[in-house]
Amino acid sequence: MSRIFNFSPGPAKLPRPVLEQAQAELLDWNGTGVSILETSHRALQFEALGHELTHNLRRIANIPSDYKILWMQGGGRGQFSMIPMNLLGEKKSADYVINGLWSHLAADEARKYCHVNPVVQARDIVPDLSMWACDENAAYLHYTDNETVDGLEFSFVPDITTDVPLVADMTSNFLSKPIDMTQFSLIHAAAQKNFGPSGVTLVIVHESLLDRALPMTPSFCHYKTFSELNSFYQTPPTMSWYIVNLVLKWIEAQGGLERLAEKNQEKADLLYQTIDESDFYRNHIAPEHRSRMNIVFRLTNNALEACFLEEAQEANFIGLKGHKSVGGIRASMYNAMPISEVQALCEFMKHFEAKHG
Ligand SMILES: *Cc1c(COP(=O)(O)O)cnc(C)c1O
Repeated sequence: MSRIFNFSPGPAKLPRPVLEQAQAELLDWNGTGVSILETSHRALQFEALGHELTHNLRRIANIPSDYKILWMQGGGRGQFSMIPMNLLGEKKSADYVINGLWSHLAADEARKYCHVNPVVQARDIVPDLSMWACDENAAYLHYTDNETVDGLEFSFVPDITTDVPLVADMTSNFLSKPIDMTQFSLIHAAAQKNFGPSGVTLVIVHESLLDRALPMTPSFCHYKTFSELNSFYQTPPTMSWYIVNLVLKWIEAQGGLERLAEKNQEKADLLYQTIDESDFYRNHIAPEHRSRMNIVFRLTNNALEACFLEEAQEANFIGLKGHKSVGGIRASMYNAMPISEVQALCEFMKHFEAKHG
């Protein structure tokens, strides 16, 4: 089979060595004689995997011991409901920064549970803190660190100087760079963009926030339940946990988050440079607001975009179509994307321009 360049936004490319190891041990996991797919989540070996998974994440992402690591289901969207259910407590309102599709949808879902204060509403930018109108009585403040559809990414952690818990959706950039967890009260991320397959959603939450759930919160959505049972409340997505654990080991073998952040920057710089150098392609976002993970661009002649996607597909570049709400082209380049494949995309873009420009 010829090589495929997978720029899909998610579920997205996984590291090759992870897939190879999963393939090699698919029929006989860990010497048990059965597949991981057939193993009970109550088997000692699987319980050990659960502990290792949490332990590995805590080490790699440097998560202090007063934060709980929860492996849940329901994806990013599930968290849009679980966050208000778990964090509202006695409060009646929550703050939302709205600057792209996902932050918009997060706020829409929260409106079912409380008053949503749109701290700032913006498009095509990461709004500067000076534009934010925060409410110091809000139950929490939610923002989206990387807007996957719009191609925007925060280059700073909002320092809001109140006691309002800071909550970040890092679904599409968690583990792409080092973080200082102490700046956050909660980070949530569905795995299928940057660190695993679909089916598992990570929540890292400060232990002081575990007693604020609304009484109606279903147990399978309840952070405290998951915390007390080390995420063994219901049958976990066992295969997804296993793959995420392999990805964590791969991250460590790559030199950890500092090194991955350098590589991700290098890849993004290369593609943005190719776009900016040409009048044929354009990206309308100011350099300091641009995402390193999801690079959106247009062809100056919009009519050529369908042709671009078609020829890209013929040349084995897949997943490049922009989200239906914005159109255009989007190249998603998560941790598992090697720079050589970004170089190949840039070469393809130059050839396409020479042919059609
Ligand atoms: C993809 C995405 C989501 C939604 O994730 P699902 O698992 O499909 O519910 C939420 N937030 C961000 C930032 C995303 O990129």
